[in-house]
Amino acid sequence: MKCYVCDAEITVANETEEHIIINAAGGRLKSKDLICSKCNSDFGETIDSLLAKQLNNLANMLMIKRHRGEPQPIVGEKQSTGEKYILEVGGKPKLTKPTIDKIVDGDKTNISITARSEKELREILTGIAKKHPHFDVEEAMKSAQWREEYFEEALHFQNVIGGNEVFRAVCKCATNFFIYSKGDASQIKHLIPYIKGEEDKEVVWMHYQENLYELKPEESLHIIHLVGKKDERVLYCYVDYFNTYKYLVLLSDNYDGQDIKATYCFDLINITPIEKEIILDYNRETVLDFFINKDAKPFEKVKKSFDHSIALGLKRQDDHQRGELLERAIQNSLGKYPDGVLITEGMLNEAIEEIMKNITPYLLRRMKK
Ligand SMILES: [Zn+2]
Repeated sequence: MKCYVCDAEITVANETEEHIIINAAGGRLKSKDLICSKCNSDFGETIDSLLAKQLNNLANMLMIKRHRGEPQPIVGEKQSTGEKYILEVGGKPKLTKPTIDKIVDGDKTNISITARSEKELREILTGIAKKHPHFDVEEAMKSAQWREEYFEEALHFQNVIGGNEVFRAVCKCATNFFIYSKGDASQIKHLIPYIKGEEDKEVVWMHYQENLYELKPEESLHIIHLVGKKDERVLYCYVDYFNTYKYLVLLSDNYDGQDIKATYCFDLINITPIEKEIILDYNRETVLDFFINKDAKPFEKVKKSFDHSIALGLKRQDDHQRGELLERAIQNSLGKYPDGVLITEGMLNEAIEEIMKNITPYLLRRMKK
């Protein structure tokens, strides 16, 4: 087996599991028979990391589970104040940094601190104590007030879609899938300099056609659909991330390999591959025409696709938050008793009270919406 990018023989020494759809976006399909570890790490640092960055907002919002690690936090901005917040997975906003305000009043200095956690506050106070030996960290910790509130204002964050480097990463996803589907590497050899960024080509474009497949409201999928037609000498691949970022890749307009048709569809919510019918079977002329007369304004369609993902993401965050609130209420009440203790009516009442205390602000906020 040879690396289809650099032709190096793949051995135990340089083998690697290449994710056909990047791991950062929750891709699970992988193979050791595609590329060598050097090519894998070169792409990982360049085009794949840029694609990952673009797909991260949705991976975060949808709380996608990955092979390794969690989606990165998103940075958003409150428009009224310009304050920056980070959104961790699960949708909880946090300040991007703590604030420290000093007011000098005669020989006294008042310091007001907003910290994001107890640990952070303690670090800041310890820093102050180093400069001011009389400062009592424990006393200050005791006087701190903790506040948690719901956000009344929407956070704004930017979404970028496409770009040359990202198109290259999408093209690699398609070539990966072609080789994985037992395609002949010589048929896509001409794309290697393009994927490596050594040459420009017009072989990837956004592709938002209606009714390519049925999508249920609770579904979020990655889809790859590959078609090769020997008679028509054309090989192309549709790549669709989160039913939102959708691309067509022209793998060859001079294809003379075997007829090929392969679909991969991954259900990101239930973390499993599923069968899905993709109604996308173009003839040569239609495919080439997508690249000659490029859809210059797909933005309305892009927005519609985003709407689906964002609605699903908000619902998932909401369910997650409710679960967390309940768990916290139980921890704060019943959780403090040792395991196996008999639950009395008093303890139960305490639990109910704690649940009401935690859930009420959440319910009030929902009613306001
Ligand atoms: Zn290689």
